[in-house]
Amino acid sequence: MEGKLLSVIIPVYNEQEVLLSAYERFEAALKSIGSPYELIFVDDGSTDETMPMLRTLVEKNSSIKVLSFSRNFGHQLAVTAGMDAAAGSALIIIDVDLQDPPELIAEMVELWEQGAKIVYGKRLKRKGETIFKRLTAFLYYRLLKSMSAYPIPLDSGDFRLLDREVADGFLKMREHNRFLRGMSAWMGYNAQPLEYVRAERYAGQTKYTLKKMLKLAWDGISGFSSRPLTLPGWLGLTLMLLSGLGFIALIILSAAIGAAPWLWAVAGFAFLQGVTLAALGLQGAYMSRMYDELKGRPLYIIKERIGQLPK
Ligand code: UDP
Ligand code: MG
Repeated sequence: MEGKLLSVIIPVYNEQEVLLSAYERFEAALKSIGSPYELIFVDDGSTDETMPMLRTLVEKNSSIKVLSFSRNFGHQLAVTAGMDAAAGSALIIIDVDLQDPPELIAEMVELWEQGAKIVYGKRLKRKGETIFKRLTAFLYYRLLKSMSAYPIPLDSGDFRLLDREVADGFLKMREHNRFLRGMSAWMGYNAQPLEYVRAERYAGQTKYTLKKMLKLAWDGISGFSSRPLTLPGWLGLTLMLLSGLGFIALIILSAAIGAAPWLWAVAGFAFLQGVTLAALGLQGAYMSRMYDELKGRPLYIIKERIGQLPK
């Protein structure tokens, strides 16, 4: 079958234990699809044998392409660099450690051929991960969903297929602190889930340290929600309202039976605290607008043009 070019983007950071086995499975999975493909490995500043191994692979197989970073820039930027370099009609993002089974790419491609513009892997189960990781991930996805203005799907990572059209729009977003799955949700389009059981890491240790996880978690919230900035304002307004009611109650109380002076002090203090918080929230509201401008995302994404329109 002569299909369209598939670009598979694989970030790698010190993955000498998994690289060769992963390559074999990737190659087998892609050959079975029958479309031309490119495997773009992005070396995120590895210091082990990953790069020498990749050099050998490139010589063996001309479908392999490698980008090597000057230092560790992080997984999200490695994926972005791979997407920038991809030439395919569909881009598939997948981890190298075989936690996302490469065989599922065939199913993603099938859904794409049926018209899905984004196919994202949805984890039904996560094998071999600590309770801590599973619990924090579970809670985090739900917190993010409740805060985000865009429908970021639950329990899905970066394992996904993006149509070229979507990828082109996506790559117009040049924000530095990237949270790819949020950006993918921001794009809209018909995003189709593909449920799968997330396997254990094939070998080696996780390269996502707790610090990197926390940064990613914060990038997700700060990139897709302005609530942390405006929340103090709502708290402040509530406090002002409550202390205002308190004042009214105190006036009535002191006319009837008298009120202790410290009650007035408490109400006054609460009111002033409310004013401060409200002012902070107001600043936050402006800051969130400035932040939106700074992110410089496209204003809109057009999916289709119908009729005679100027370009
Ligand atoms: N990775 C990367 N740069 C990093 C950390 C991770 O390119 O700074 C790659 C890593 O090689 C793997 C993918 O990102 O292909 C996911 O990392 P990992 O499997 O260690 O994370 P986990 O699955 O434990 O969350
Ligand atoms: Mg992993």
